[in-house]
Amino acid sequence: MIQPSVLVVEDEEDIRELLSYNLLKEGYQVAGVASGEDALTTVESKPPDVILLDLLLPGMDGLSVCRKLKASPATQSIPILMLTAKGEEGDIVAGLNLGADDYITKPFSPKVLLARLRAVMRRKTAGDAAAASDGEEPETIQIRDLGIHPGRHEVLVRGTRVELTATEFRLLYFLAQRPGWVFTRQQILDGVHGDNYAITDRAVDVQIVGLRRKLGPAGRYIETVRGVGYRVKE
Ligand code: CA
Repeated sequence: MIQPSVLVVEDEEDIRELLSYNLLKEGYQVAGVASGEDALTTVESKPPDVILLDLLLPGMDGLSVCRKLKASPATQSIPILMLTAKGEEGDIVAGLNLGADDYITKPFSPKVLLARLRAVMRRKTAGDAAAASDGEEPETIQIRDLGIHPGRHEVLVRGTRVELTATEFRLLYFLAQRPGWVFTRQQILDGVHGDNYAITDRAVDVQIVGLRRKLGPAGRYIETVRGVGYRVKE
């Protein structure tokens, strides 16, 4: 089996080398670059299976790199795991909203990083398999004028397509599969991102706010259950 390739985007040489060392040891193919500009060039010439992206870079920052990659059909399906510093919560949320798949805060243990990386790639593989299984499309969910098509990763409100990030889509699909059921923020995080996902409750609230806004009139179907969490109205 060909080993998955990882592109490490990190301007701090020590961290880049530490990451590369650990990844190589696990059998990954690794390429390392020190700037956002180099990251885009490398992705274009030799697309990796996954990208480890430091947010704080000289010149073009990580969020701009993420925005560019997720905006292009050629690169948007490459999973991005953001590397962030403590206190960059705003950037983390912004990155997730742009479509980044996960993040890890520095300093991190190589073990945790490798586990996150595997989880991100597993989700990608599962998504690809779902997209490839023709004729076995998961069922469409219809809630009044809100249609959710998991196979096509498409959401329609009154027949009009709504552009959601990958995270917003998973969040909506997760809630809508069980209309009327209340989910806590932790259950939502586990359902959307897998277990042991160390993101704050606040980030769920931010995602919900964004989701409601994008859904327009259908946004009110997502109810806040005070002190508990959220649900999609039956
Ligand atoms: Ca940096």
